[in-house]
Amino acid sequence: MKSHVKAVVIGGGVVGCSVLYHLARAGWTDIMLIERSELTSGSSWHAAGGFHTLNGDPNVAKLQAYTVQLYKELEEISGQSCSLHLTGGVMLADSPERMDFLRLAHAKGRYLGMDTELITPSEAKKMFPLMDEKHFVGAMWDPVEGHLDPSGTTHAYAKAAKKLGAEIVLRNPVKELTQDPDGTWNVVTEQGTVRAEHVVNCGGLWAREVGRMVGVELPVLAMEHMYLLTEPMPEVEAFNKETGREMIGVLDFKGEIYTRQERNGILLGTYEKACKPWSPVNTPWDFGHELLAPDLDRIAPSLEIGFQHFPGIANAGIKQVINGPFTFAPDGNPLVGPVQDLTNFWVACGVMAGFSQGGGVGLALSNWMVNGDPGFDVWGMDVARWGEWASLRYTNAKVRENYSRRFSIRFPNEELPAARPAQTTPLYDTMVANNAVMGDSWGLETPLWFAPKGTEPKDIVSFHRSNDFEHIGNEVRATRERVGVTEIANFAKYEVSGPAAEDFLNRLMTNRMPKKGRIVLTPMLNEFGRLIGDFTIAKTGDDKFMIWGSSAAQKYHMRWFEKHLPKDGSVRIHRFDQTLVGLSIAGPKSQALLQKLVDVDVSSKAFRFMDFREMAVGGAPCMVNRITYTGDLGYEIWMAPAYQRLVYKAIKDAGEEFGIVDFGMRALLSMRLEKNFPTWFRELRPIYGPFEGSMERFIKLEKNDFIGREAAAKEHAEGPKLRRVSFYVDAQDADVMGDEPIWAKVGAKDFGTVEKPHGYGAPRFDETGKEVRGSDAATGASAVRGIVDGDWRVVGWVTSGGYAHYVGKSMAQGYVPAVLAENEADGLFEIEILGKRRPARINVEPPFDPSGDKMRG
Ligand SMILES: Cc1cc2nc3c(=O)[nH]c(=O)nc-3n(C[C@H](O)[C@H](O)[C@H](O)COP(=O)(O)OP(=O)(O)OC[C@H]3O[C@@H](n4cnc5c(N)ncnc54)[C@H](O)[C@@H]3O)c2cc1C
Repeated sequence: MKSHVKAVVIGGGVVGCSVLYHLARAGWTDIMLIERSELTSGSSWHAAGGFHTLNGDPNVAKLQAYTVQLYKELEEISGQSCSLHLTGGVMLADSPERMDFLRLAHAKGRYLGMDTELITPSEAKKMFPLMDEKHFVGAMWDPVEGHLDPSGTTHAYAKAAKKLGAEIVLRNPVKELTQDPDGTWNVVTEQGTVRAEHVVNCGGLWAREVGRMVGVELPVLAMEHMYLLTEPMPEVEAFNKETGREMIGVLDFKGEIYTRQERNGILLGTYEKACKPWSPVNTPWDFGHELLAPDLDRIAPSLEIGFQHFPGIANAGIKQVINGPFTFAPDGNPLVGPVQDLTNFWVACGVMAGFSQGGGVGLALSNWMVNGDPGFDVWGMDVARWGEWASLRYTNAKVRENYSRRFSIRFPNEELPAARPAQTTPLYDTMVANNAVMGDSWGLETPLWFAPKGTEPKDIVSFHRSNDFEHIGNEVRATRERVGVTEIANFAKYEVSGPAAEDFLNRLMTNRMPKKGRIVLTPMLNEFGRLIGDFTIAKTGDDKFMIWGSSAAQKYHMRWFEKHLPKDGSVRIHRFDQTLVGLSIAGPKSQALLQKLVDVDVSSKAFRFMDFREMAVGGAPCMVNRITYTGDLGYEIWMAPAYQRLVYKAIKDAGEEFGIVDFGMRALLSMRLEKNFPTWFRELRPIYGPFEGSMERFIKLEKNDFIGREAAAKEHAEGPKLRRVSFYVDAQDADVMGDEPIWAKVGAKDFGTVEKPHGYGAPRFDETGKEVRGSDAATGASAVRGIVDGDWRVVGWVTSGGYAHYVGKSMAQGYVPAVLAENEADGLFEIEILGKRRPARINVEPPFDPSGDKMRG
């Protein structure tokens, strides 16, 4: 065993071996994987080995597609078979809602380059004769599904990594991790200490314990999972003989069941409602190649439905029941990336579908370690998406909820109840008493909308417009015509201070920093000139700035800020989280309302649009921004939590004469739509350039050298290929949700060069599996081309949308080829909503207050 290496990967499951292989492939060969026992000694050895590409997050789906595509290369390099069976599979819908869900998935698949197809139950039965089609209303066929040998695949990664020069040390538990002042890690193992620049936690079932070695509580929990294998079945043998094909994989949402052929019988697994965590607090170190006791009673309800739906299987004898544990993060997606506050400590764990996701996880993490950036939009699996509130107990409740809902529909207006409330502001009880329907915003309870008194404050979940529609409309109209108040504690808030604070921000941000007492809006870019942040910044003192941004991105942004902080202490950064809370008032009467609450002049001359001022509001010390996300005349008021109730009461009392209303997040988001304002993580993500994102007003290429400037200048000079645009949609009773395809009537004109980007900069792969390198405004591998219907062609994708209540229109934002971005013609675009194409028209100017006169006051 070497005593010094560049990187140590802890854990020889499929994920650790994939990370090792990808690091070696990227050129880091002085690396070592340390495994406690033998390879696959965690959850990897007893996996059912199924793989598929579909995922709710299209960016994660893309990395899954990469994983599946990688296996052939892996077999060639390693000489080890993965026993790939690319059978294809169907998802069966038992209800109209589930069919809507499949239509949505199919629509997303269109621009992800997936070849899915909506089919009838009898077509599905032809592929899988063991089913009874009368229980289903439709299905979706996906050709890129199948199964493989989990152990062979893990060994294939390991062998390929070894061929490239990596070392693998078996039967050697890592006992302790310490870090020297120079950042070197001491990996203390049973066989001695290895010194390494980087450590990667791929501990799988023990990832939590490995995290604790460095004082980090990772939000992962293992769940028991069961599948059974039938005796050989004559029906299966007959089907194979007749068709010359293996049986396909089948997913039955109603029964919470997945099945596939295993030898001459069937493998059937369940994600049962009565699920059970395994080792909820500590994972025993002596657990290894053993299985857990089967508990057929627990999965009996699923089996009962399964046997009705698949009578062919009901009569087969059960040969074996496998019960094994594997880990989940609270939302079921992996935890990948560098851990904030630690240098060169990386994680790749909580991977619940190692054989669908392991390759993509390995690629993204190795890019991140080698190039300083994952090269893909990996937000959906970034470890930074969880805050301090994701404690052991929070994780336990959420993972159980997620597991038991694995095959349930998540409606776009559905808030999940487990582990709530986690964080609350002082106004929580008041908001609940005001009949607010509350939602979870990065662990914080936030009002979504207000039900009228006497009505139950509850969402009726649906893909269509629902019971909140009328009430959100009332909140919007009252705000636009009079004045409204809403909680904005769910923004991220930071203070940057110190003699070099301004230089630091100028280096990170694309816009010029404001003068004292003024505010600017500014994107932030990475080295590849891609959008990684969008902030409001106020200069609050000579060497002091306040920054507001996306709440969910707090850890993500802190990691970036800290990485670039000067080492000499000349800049300090503080994240407030919930130690600073806020209220926003908006609408034509908001100025008169504020004036009643303060002892200074807040007329539009004295307190201008984009001004910042500290002032007492209702007697409480506050910071006030003359800006609001509704796009109205309005204010954001920030205060310590101890004052929030006082300020809220003062606002409501003083606002009575103006007819003030409470409004929630949904009204806020509706109002921003009619101003064409983008949102972070929807319109603005690391896959887009600032000009693509239509953010040019905030990009000052000439100001000074900032991170990403060169790439942004190139994008500007060449002209962006894509543009973010806003649409009116002729919708019926359902609005867009995001990720719907945008069609254009462009005749024979081919927009084949326009693709949905998922990656940039770092290595990526074309359809033939060939690696493409470069730091150009890359396109990932997701194509909108080739989807043609007569004169119509899919040319883009929706990022978000909804109903814009004040202007009375359904609206959407999305990306289209730049050449089409200013074409406001009728009849040119259609947007697919729940499988039906609806006419759409670009609106270049925002429909509400296009001149900005109302906003400026
Ligand atoms: C019953 C069942 C069915 C499944 N079916 C599927 C499926 O069909 N498709 C699919 O994609 N996934 C499936 N999975 C999930 C899949 O098994 C996991 O996603 C995958 O195994 C995760 O791999 P990993 O490398 O992260 O973790 P693990 O396989 O748990 O590997 C972690 C490794 O780290 C080692 N380790 C931990 N701590 C230390 C230490 N301190 N020092 C040294 N070594 C250490 C362990 O010994 C272990 O070998 C299934 C799982 C189960 C249980």
